[in-house]
Amino acid sequence: MVSNMTTKSKLMLIVTIMLLGLTAATIINIALNFREYSINSAVEKSQMAANIVKDGLTAHMVNNMMDKRQYFLDKIATNNNIKSLWIARGENVISQYGKGLQSESVRDDLDEEVLRTGESIQKITENTKDTTLRVTIPYKASTPADSTDCVSCHNVNRGDTLGIISMEFDISDMRNSGMITVLKILGINLLFIIIVLVLINYYVTPYMNLFSNLQSGIKKAYRGDFTHEFISKVGGDAKSVVNQMNSLFRKMQETFGDIKYNLATFIPQGAALSNDPLHEAKTIISELSDIYKFKKTIELDGSKEEVYGRIIDILKLKYHIGHFAFYEVNNVTAERRIIYSTEEDNICFEKTNKNALNCRAFRTSSVTISTEFPNLCKACSSVDINYVCIPFYINHDISLTVSMTSNKIEEVDLMKKNISSIKHYLEAAKPVIESQILMEKLRDTSLRDGMTGLYNRRFLEEVIDKIMSQANRNNDTFAVMMIDVDFFKMVNDTYGHDVGDKVIVALAKILNSSIRDSDLAIRYGGEEFVVMLHNANDEGVMSIAKKIHSEFAKLSFDVGNTQPLQKTLSIGIAKFPTDGDTIWKCIKYADTALYEAKNTGRNKIVEFKPDMFKSGDEF
Ligand code: GH3
Ligand code: MG
Ligand code: MG
Repeated sequence: MVSNMTTKSKLMLIVTIMLLGLTAATIINIALNFREYSINSAVEKSQMAANIVKDGLTAHMVNNMMDKRQYFLDKIATNNNIKSLWIARGENVISQYGKGLQSESVRDDLDEEVLRTGESIQKITENTKDTTLRVTIPYKASTPADSTDCVSCHNVNRGDTLGIISMEFDISDMRNSGMITVLKILGINLLFIIIVLVLINYYVTPYMNLFSNLQSGIKKAYRGDFTHEFISKVGGDAKSVVNQMNSLFRKMQETFGDIKYNLATFIPQGAALSNDPLHEAKTIISELSDIYKFKKTIELDGSKEEVYGRIIDILKLKYHIGHFAFYEVNNVTAERRIIYSTEEDNICFEKTNKNALNCRAFRTSSVTISTEFPNLCKACSSVDINYVCIPFYINHDISLTVSMTSNKIEEVDLMKKNISSIKHYLEAAKPVIESQILMEKLRDTSLRDGMTGLYNRRFLEEVIDKIMSQANRNNDTFAVMMIDVDFFKMVNDTYGHDVGDKVIVALAKILNSSIRDSDLAIRYGGEEFVVMLHNANDEGVMSIAKKIHSEFAKLSFDVGNTQPLQKTLSIGIAKFPTDGDTIWKCIKYADTALYEAKNTGRNKIVEFKPDMFKSGDEF
């Protein structure tokens, strides 16, 4: 508002100054011209009076009435408003006719000068009271063209100065009337200025108010607040601008409100919020975009170590951390392994790697910053180096620790500022690292059955929970098949253990070739297998079960000179999560269905139904 008032005042001031300037110029101009006009008209009048005097004197002379000349001169003076009028004789007239009347002598230097030079002089004398115009004109011996020939009486040459006529005019009145004119102009102009200012005020104020309103709305918008309601008392274009601004702001308020709300989730905890939410949004979005790119990249990485490498690169290249160590901690054994370190020796005591519980960051699961308390972490071997240690939990098995060090306090401040941002990267890497850990487990031979190459029961016990927690996140489904060879004991008993083994291996091959990469085949017991089909629909599950069932039935085993051996399978099926809400329940239910198959004649596929359950069998 203040700045608008200033704008308006400025405008009014400029207009006032311009009008005053114009008034002053007019007044000066008029005053000068008026003065000149006054003088000119007085001079003209004096000229006229001089001519009358000249002609009158000549007439007096010709008519031999020179004794009456003073009366004549006085009359002229009073009739023409001449303050004083006198004449003086030149030397030649004096020598011919004598000095004349007392009043006809030279009165001052001006008279003398005009007598001497024969040039007329005019002079203005001004004082505070009045202004006087003095005019002295030479009276010269006339030329032959004149009606009266002076030379006929005067003993002079033509053109000689016979005498002078001096007059004084009071032109104070003219000056005064000039002053009055000036005052009138001044008054009119001042009135005009006041009218102009009132009009400006009347017409400009609504616009100024509109500008001020627009300005405060835009200021609020800059702070991310689009709730401002624009108002204008001015119609026309201003009204439509106001309407457009209002609808724009309403739209901004809706969308920006949503954006702000959503972005708030990503604002790092403790990060200083700027006053400019648009800038803030831009920063957060570019941060999110960086993290997204990072995530997309590591998702295609082949191993956990490769992902760790990316995190190290981010620490070095994005955050420019010069000194740091990166650890992987086994949550179960508390053993710590160094993944990367910029230093030969890092600041932690050696024993910390054997027992990471010595590391305060790991033990307390909280960021540990040396500047917060003296000797904060007992695992630190250095006194003059500051550290910022970020622990990060990946899963039940492992955690990560980033230990950044510096002896420059401003570097430590920067590290502190970047903690939450670094955590965002670790957060993004977490599921990828988890699945890489899982993949490592899947590759682990101790989790496989040596005879068939399928996963063993230990695998199921160790890994299935992790697989299922991932499946739950993605809303995956699994169909669990429990497969058991019918009357297998007989094979062993009749043909020996080796033949039995061959049957088991052959079945494992069929299982392997019937399922996809994302499915799992597990040797659950002796000749009992679990197959888990990932995201298969009901028909798909049944067709795979039938395929396994018939392929196996088609097999014939050479058992020497007797009839080739042929066997059948019984299969029980239960589905996660429709039949049971945990995979272990589904395994149990698949077993129930298998039991049903065995009990109802074997060599068949049975899907689990809740009524197969006797109440005592509940978990
Ligand atoms: P059912 O139709 O009810 O399944 O009858 P079954 O005879 O197949 O009974 P069961 O499934 O209980 O038989 C398991 C037998 O499998 C017991 C064991 O001798 C045999 N077996 C377990 N592991 C192996 C193995 O690695 N090799 C061989 N050859 N036999 C095994
Ligand atoms: Mg069996
Ligand atoms: Mg069995």
